[in-house]
Amino acid sequence: AAKSNGRNGYSYFTVELQYAAQYRMNMINDLRNALSLQQFEMYYQPIVELKNGGIHKAEALIRWRHPSKGLVSPGLFISVAEENGLIVRIGDWAFRQVVSQVRIFRQALAADFQVSINKSPMQFRQNNGSESDWLECLRQMGLPGDSVVIEITEGLLLDVSPNTSRQLLNYRDAGVQVSLDDFGTGYSSLAYIQKFDIDYLKIDQRFIANLSTNSTNMALCEAIILMAHKLGIKVIAEGIETEAQHALLREMGCDYGQGYLFSRPMPADDFVAMLAAR
Ligand code: C2E
Ligand code: MG
Ligand code: MG
Ligand code: MG
Repeated sequence: AAKSNGRNGYSYFTVELQYAAQYRMNMINDLRNALSLQQFEMYYQPIVELKNGGIHKAEALIRWRHPSKGLVSPGLFISVAEENGLIVRIGDWAFRQVVSQVRIFRQALAADFQVSINKSPMQFRQNNGSESDWLECLRQMGLPGDSVVIEITEGLLLDVSPNTSRQLLNYRDAGVQVSLDDFGTGYSSLAYIQKFDIDYLKIDQRFIANLSTNSTNMALCEAIILMAHKLGIKVIAEGIETEAQHALLREMGCDYGQGYLFSRPMPADDFVAMLAAR
């Protein structure tokens, strides 16, 4: 329990709570206007094919350019946007942005360029039918389904409603691929992965971080890669920061890698310039 402090009887604890609540309220208010003020930007991080260094894929990651806070990372606002439902409109904006960008990547970089976008469980639940809007958006742009990948988390597969599984099936029928993000941090079993016909599995960065020194993580990564390949699933390692991690994963037969070793996420123009200069 909070200790009573000061003459007014307020505890530090209460004051801190009030401050946190105020901060959140400000954030929610700012977030409400952020879309109309065009404060969001999509950044792109390359996904590298480990056997030959080729780059025909990227992950789109949202950023919020706040007038006083600067560039705010999604870790700080996505959960707030999920709690108040704003994630739905923000997510729809992000998808449209990505689709128009993929078209440019395909023209400027590689005809089969593919961009993955994160879609949180809340977006699946609160935006029933969003997948058909997204597919319509692809059609209008004249892009095939496999120009995008939807990144889902293990949490989504834990309690799959008929609504969620229908959305996943609609993506699949349209050729949109599905990636299971942050693998190893949740409770997914092989059964889920088989049932939902996942195309890519992303090993969470916490397993990659100490790969060279931690033999358990080595064993886990090797097992995940073997298992995925048996099921016809490609593996992407997240958070590769060192050449040692890169070499180990390549030896293990990991298909793709993503991380600061190759590149930080960057704005679309810089991304095209970097790859075009290679
Ligand atoms: P995620 O989908 O797992 O994305 C990978 C995160 O790892 C990104 O953080 C990326 O910048 C970071 N990362 C990449 N390489 C490295 C590395 O070598 N070292 C380290 N330490 N980190 C690395 P970011 O951009 O801050 O995004 C955080 C999370 O926010 C994402 O995790 C994703 O869950 C969510 N998110 C981002 N954009 C969107 C979006 O458009 N919609 C939704 N619903 N969620 C998003
Ligand atoms: Mg992701
Ligand atoms: Mg991830
Ligand atoms: Mg994550």
